[in-house]
Amino acid sequence: MTSKHPETLALHAGWRRDSATNAVAVPIYQTTSFQFDSAEHAANLFGLKELGNIYTRIMNPTTDVLEKRIAAMEGGVAALGLASGQSASAFAVLNLARAGDNIVSSTDLYGGTWNLFANTLKDQGIEARFVDPTDPEAFARATDDRTRVYYAETLPNPKLIAFPIAEVAAIGRKFGIPLVMDNTAAPILVRPFDHGAAVVMYSTTKYIGGHGTSIGGIVVDGGNFDWEAHPLRQPALNTPDPSYHGAVWSQAVKPLGPIAYILKMRVTLLRDLGACMSPFNAFLFIQGVETLALRMREHSRNARAVADFLAARKEVTRVIHPAHHTGAAAERSAKYLPHGQGGLVGFEIVGGTEAGRRFINALQLFYHVANIGDSRSLAIHPGSTTHSQLTEAEQLATGVTPGYVRLSVGLEHIDDILADLSQALAAAAG
Ligand code: PLP
Repeated sequence: MTSKHPETLALHAGWRRDSATNAVAVPIYQTTSFQFDSAEHAANLFGLKELGNIYTRIMNPTTDVLEKRIAAMEGGVAALGLASGQSASAFAVLNLARAGDNIVSSTDLYGGTWNLFANTLKDQGIEARFVDPTDPEAFARATDDRTRVYYAETLPNPKLIAFPIAEVAAIGRKFGIPLVMDNTAAPILVRPFDHGAAVVMYSTTKYIGGHGTSIGGIVVDGGNFDWEAHPLRQPALNTPDPSYHGAVWSQAVKPLGPIAYILKMRVTLLRDLGACMSPFNAFLFIQGVETLALRMREHSRNARAVADFLAARKEVTRVIHPAHHTGAAAERSAKYLPHGQGGLVGFEIVGGTEAGRRFINALQLFYHVANIGDSRSLAIHPGSTTHSQLTEAEQLATGVTPGYVRLSVGLEHIDDILADLSQALAAAAG
């Protein structure tokens, strides 16, 4: 498949037909194990002399199609499907950082990722140094000899300010540090590899699926990072791995292409921690990917219309949307999101927490859920739900004011979306 267009790759990359039956749709290979052709074949697979199916905890042909398809759409070389977005973020870091090492991460993160970095990885001896994403040089200042990874989200909510991918990736490349981008909120709209990121990860639970049926995650290797050039900075890929007969991944994997990072993740972390994607969920994500480009266009169009509508309402004091920023944040939107700004919109409602609750209770079309990226429109009032355990000062630091409402605008007809928002705003104003 030679196309560069995501619409075409989403339908064709990684699969033509089933070699056994000629089936056009990707089958669900719901099997734990795969029969080896011979003792030699088995030994070759285990020795990585040949790539092929062994056991579904480590690889599966249905998941393989999803991995190839998303890698192609991202402009990367290979990918690894995982059980959730959380496992994808954890693996993206654990693949390079060990106890005593650190990572530098943007402060503007999904709460689950924040907890993973600030608490669980800390307990494992890996320190996360959080820095302000509006200042790319902050990443350089927080770096020392034990920094292994830079980490950020392309379009973090609630602030919805695009991350300076190219600026931070360039700083990292000077040090030999890869930038891992969580692109969950902006598939299709942003391709972080085009801006110099080395690794992309997704919670496929969100837009990649779109149908809201399945939890999953994926890590994509850009194949664009010279691990070998930084042996001291990246020991995990440049020193013998005792768990694989002393393999040095940057060397051992060379004949297979620039896939050292992702292959090591598959055959060590996935082998040992077992957070694999089920073939059934991979099948459902493949159904989602087929329409991803169309959906992202439509989500972006509807969300923009919602943002413009809210900006004109007297019950709304502020609209948070990439097209409604000013100053440096607006420049970031123009640089990174010229073809659509995604489906998320935030706004502040007059009347604070109480008005926020009344607004949510009055919604009829929007679902009240903690998710984003569904084809259906979703809403939440973070101050009384996702962020309620934080103090007001902490809430403000993350960008959540008492009257802040987050919308994940879906694919319903825009007239129905605006009608629901309009009646709920009126109800909230009492
Ligand atoms: N990253 C982002 C930006 C998210 O919004 C989420 C989930 O909300 C995750 C990662 C974690 O993904 P999952 O819920 O699939 O584990």
